[in-house]
Amino acid sequence: MSAFHREKVLSVRHWTDTLFSFTATRNSGFRFQNGQFAMIGLEVDGRPLLRAYSMASANHEDSLEFFSIKVADGPLTSRLQQIRKGDTILVGRKATGTLIADNLIPGKRLLLLSTGTGLAPFASLIKDPEVYERYETIVLVHGCRQVSELAYGEELVAKLRDDEFLGPLLTGKLVYYPTVTREPFRNRGRITDLIASEQLFDDVGLPPLDIAHDRIMMCGSPGMLEELREMFETRGFLEGSHSEPGHFVIEKAFVER
Ligand SMILES: Cc1cc2nc3c(=O)[nH]c(=O)nc-3n(C[C@H](O)[C@H](O)[C@H](O)COP(=O)(O)OP(=O)(O)OC[C@H]3O[C@@H](n4cnc5c(N)ncnc54)[C@H](O)[C@@H]3O)c2cc1C
Repeated sequence: MSAFHREKVLSVRHWTDTLFSFTATRNSGFRFQNGQFAMIGLEVDGRPLLRAYSMASANHEDSLEFFSIKVADGPLTSRLQQIRKGDTILVGRKATGTLIADNLIPGKRLLLLSTGTGLAPFASLIKDPEVYERYETIVLVHGCRQVSELAYGEELVAKLRDDEFLGPLLTGKLVYYPTVTREPFRNRGRITDLIASEQLFDDVGLPPLDIAHDRIMMCGSPGMLEELREMFETRGFLEGSHSEPGHFVIEKAFVER
């Protein structure tokens, strides 16, 4: 049995020069928990060329969705960005990852902190009805350099709010906070600074960070994650894992090579 499923690309959307998303068929045997990632890629010269990708679709959906960077000289994404409807991609059979609800101890508010394509696992999680049962409030923060890089997340949230089934679950519970660092925008600044200064909470009219109620998932650049980890650990928050749930969990959106 091959380690991969061969899936057909159903649609591709280019959001900016550096970001695109695509959907693909999903083998009925491919199971995952919302927030997890799998190895996906292309066959190149008869060999699989794979990278870790978070599923941006939820596990109740029939098709798969991914939100991807385009790295000009990246072995995979220099090719993957050329895919078209009908092409074949490889999807590893096994999904894994730490950004799952069971790795957190129960709380009232869930902070989903992301930069760039780190939004992808949270795109999956905010479509999960169970998340809205577990938490009173879910705050989705997405930081980018430019306003155009927010488009995928903005459309996603707008569609969910309009969704016949999920829309009512989101109402009054999902707070979406996009922020930009390099251009004028209604919310500006780095996620670390916005939390440290409490501006994020002021802006959305919610109480400041409280270890008794707040649970956190983070996915973004390695540098941003280290800063956030330090900030939360200084405040007594403990990292969770499969063996022991905690106050926060972390997944790198990519590794520096
Ligand atoms: C757990 C995990 C989940 C991931 N999920 C996603 C995902 O959902 N979407 C996605 O696009 N990528 C994701 N990645 C990154 C992905 O695995 C690849 O690195 C990416 O697709 C680029 O592949 P490449 O072969 O073109 O270049 P690589 O040789 O893999 O990367 C080259 C360089 O590009 C930069 N880079 C790579 N990926 C990114 C990124 N996503 N954002 C900003 N800079 C990047 C880094 O500096 C890296 O050193 C994830 C990585 C990990 C570890």
